[in-house]
Amino acid sequence: MSYHPGRHFLQIPGPTNVPDRIQRAMHAAVLDHRGPDFARLGRDVLEGMKSIFRTSGRVIIFPSSGSGGWEAAIVNTLSPGDKVLMYETGQFATLWQQVACRHGLDVEFVPGDWRHGVDPADVERRLTADRSHAFKAVMVVHNETSNGVTNRIREIRKAIDAAQHPALFMIDAVSSLASTELKQDEWQVDVVVSGSQKGLMLPPGLAFNSISEKALAANTTARLSRSYWDWQAMLKDNAAGFFPYTPATTLLYGLKEAIAMLHEEGLENVVARHSRHAAATRAAVEAWGLENLALDPREYSSSVTTILMPPGHDADAFRKITLEKYDLSLGAGLGKVKGKVFRIGHLGDFNDLMLMGTLSGVEMGLRAAGVPHQSGGVLAAMDVLSKPSLVAAEAILAR
Ligand SMILES: *Cc1c(COP(=O)(O)O)cnc(C)c1O
Repeated sequence: MSYHPGRHFLQIPGPTNVPDRIQRAMHAAVLDHRGPDFARLGRDVLEGMKSIFRTSGRVIIFPSSGSGGWEAAIVNTLSPGDKVLMYETGQFATLWQQVACRHGLDVEFVPGDWRHGVDPADVERRLTADRSHAFKAVMVVHNETSNGVTNRIREIRKAIDAAQHPALFMIDAVSSLASTELKQDEWQVDVVVSGSQKGLMLPPGLAFNSISEKALAANTTARLSRSYWDWQAMLKDNAAGFFPYTPATTLLYGLKEAIAMLHEEGLENVVARHSRHAAATRAAVEAWGLENLALDPREYSSSVTTILMPPGHDADAFRKITLEKYDLSLGAGLGKVKGKVFRIGHLGDFNDLMLMGTLSGVEMGLRAAGVPHQSGGVLAAMDVLSKPSLVAAEAILAR
C-alpha cells in the first residue's frame, strides 16, 4: 500500500466518517457489563435513542450489523407462512425480502425500476383489495442506499390508514435515521430497523429495532423461532439497563456521545444540513451533465446521490481512479446497477468544505478517467451552498 498524506475521504454512504468526539468517547477501558457503571450507560442509550427515533415506545439494541435488525424485526412479529407486502425499490429492499423468504414468509414483492420509490396509491389499492386482511405487514426501506431514492413513509402510512388495514408497518431506516426526517410515533411506524454506521456516525456493529405497542402485542403471538434476536429477553434485562448477553460496550460509549451531538446540533438542523448538502450535490451532477438515478424530486435522498455513468464508461474503473489519485472512496453500484452507477455519500459527520472536497475529487476524477462531462459542477454546488436557507426550505418542501 502506498502512503497517502492528509485525510482520506470516506464518501461511501456508510460506514460514514466517525467524528473525533465519538472516537475519544470510545477510547475507554472495557467495563463489566453486569456492573453498576454499565447499567447507567445502558439506561442512558436506551432512553436517548427514543428521542432519535422520536418514539415513546421501546428501543432494542443488538450487537450486530444492520442486517441483523432486519431479521429481528421479522422473527419477533410474524409467523411461518404470513403474507407480507414489500416493494423492490432497490438492493436493500431486495435483500430484506430475501430474509423474509428464507424465514418462510409469503412475500408479495412488487417489482420496481430502481428509479422510483413506493407509490402510496399502489399500497392503498393492494391493501383495500385484501378484504380478509391476509397481509400481516407492509415492509418498506425508507432510504434506498443503493439508488438514492427516499420513500415517502408519511404518505405510505396515510395509504395504509385509507385502506383501514391492520397490517404492521415496518421500515428500514438504516441510512435515514439521523439524516432524514423520521417521526416514528407521529407516522405510526411499528418497527424501525436501523444501524450504527450511517447517520449515527459510529463504526459498524450496532443494530436497532424501535418498536411500537402494536409490534409488542404482535410479538406475543408471533411463532417464527427466535433466540438471539428475542425482544422479550432484551426488554426484561433492559429494564435495569442490562442485556441478556454481552453488549458492544465500547460502541455504546460512542452511541451516548452521538446522541448528545445530535441534540446539540438539533435534529431539525441535522435534517436541514443533509438536505442542503444533497441539493448542492444534485446541482453539481446536473452541471456535469450527468444523470441522477432517482427520477422523482419528491424522493431525492438526503444521504446519498447515485449517478449514472455515461454509456460505455465503467463506474468501478472511475471509482478506482478517484481512490488511487485523490484518496477518495465513492460508493459502488450494487446488484442490478453494478458498474453502471457510482454513489456519493453525504451523510453523517459532514460539512460544506468536506462536500466541496468530495465534489472536487469527483470532478477531477471524471476528467482523469476521460468520462464525458461538462466542468462547473463544483461551482454549481458552491452557488447552492451560498444560499443556505432558500435551498434547505426547497429541499424540505420537495418531500
Ligand atoms: C447499510 C444498509 C443496510 C445493511 O446494513 P449492514 O450493517 O451492512 O448489515 C440495510 N439497509 C439499508 C437501507 C442500508 O443502507
